Amino acid sequence: MGFLSGLEHCVREGEPLSAHTWFRFGGLAQYWAEPTSLEDLTAIVKRSHDEGAAVRLLGGGSNVVVRDAGVRGVVVHLSAPVFSQISVQGRRLKVGGGAKLSHVVSMCASRGLAGMEQLVGIPGVVGGALHGNAGSHVADIGQWTVGATVMTRTGEIVVRDAADLQFSHRDSSLNELVILDAEFEFEQDDPQALTQKMQQTWIVAKAKQPTIGQYAGCIFKDPGGVSASSLIEDAGLKGERIGEVAICERNANFMVAEPGAQCDDLLSLIDLVRSRVSEQLGVDLEPQIEIW
Ligand SMILES: Cc1cc2nc3c(=O)[nH]c(=O)nc-3n(C[C@H](O)[C@H](O)[C@H](O)COP(=O)(O)OP(=O)(O)OC[C@H]3O[C@@H](n4cnc5c(N)ncnc54)[C@H](O)[C@@H]3O)c2cc1C
Repeated sequence: MGFLSGLEHCVREGEPLSAHTWFRFGGLAQYWAEPTSLEDLTAIVKRSHDEGAAVRLLGGGSNVVVRDAGVRGVVVHLSAPVFSQISVQGRRLKVGGGAKLSHVVSMCASRGLAGMEQLVGIPGVVGGALHGNAGSHVADIGQWTVGATVMTRTGEIVVRDAADLQFSHRDSSLNELVILDAEFEFEQDDPQALTQKMQQTWIVAKAKQPTIGQYAGCIFKDPGGVSASSLIEDAGLKGERIGEVAICERNANFMVAEPGAQCDDLLSLIDLVRSRVSEQLGVDLEPQIEIW
């Protein structure tokens, strides 16, 4: 186990990342860490830093694609309950970075905390959502964020307040190594009305996503407020495929992978879409999905 010796209870070698990402392909993580406490996490981060080993965070794996060669260094996954705590105080909610976004969305609706119901249907965890400022066409998570606690690459814990945070379309200034927790503030509304709105939004969102069970990812940012899916359709690319990866019929900004798909197929399809949309419509599409 080398520089991570003594942490065998929460670190293993050669973990297939296909088991932890939505596309279900890609190679191995050299080390896979699921720290059981803040002390474990700090030790992993500090030792990796001292050793010069790369460290990455993986949340729900819905916005990450792993190359077939896998990744060197440590991939950290905050699955332990200590990283998923949720506490409510009046209009404020404090949530661990490992908490599922879907839990937070439904808890907010049932407590009468308005806004988050608009994010129903977005997979992943709170840390992943904050890192990329996840959202819908009408709202994103950054707009309710009033603070966050992060861990830097050297293992230092830093508290960042609202004045210190910036959010833009699918991007945030929360780019430290680990988002440990975040605090949100909401307006109050009727829980029943919010729950109903959440259910209606969920039905609409699901109709625009790949079907349940498909291995998929949302690929591009919407450039300048125009939807990437409409640009891809306008370029005549709906249904296009390379190998076992295809552009989704329901929403052209998703790509879906069939069993046996390889990361290279996806990367080639991304290149094809970017070059066709640029040639035909003069728009440069920027990937939202991260490629490891
Ligand atoms: C079916 C489907 C529907 C989707 N719909 C939407 C949508 O409507 N709107 C939208 O915005 N996105 C959407 N996405 C994209 C994706 O779900 C979001 O970007 C989501 O917020 C990613 O969260 P995650 O936990 O899966 O992050 P991951 O994919 O695990 O990671 C994404 C990034 O966040 C970082 N990260 C994860 N956890 C932490 C942490 N604790 N601390 C620091 N960094 C961290 C990772 O290192 C990585 O850089 C969709 C994806 C799919 C597959």
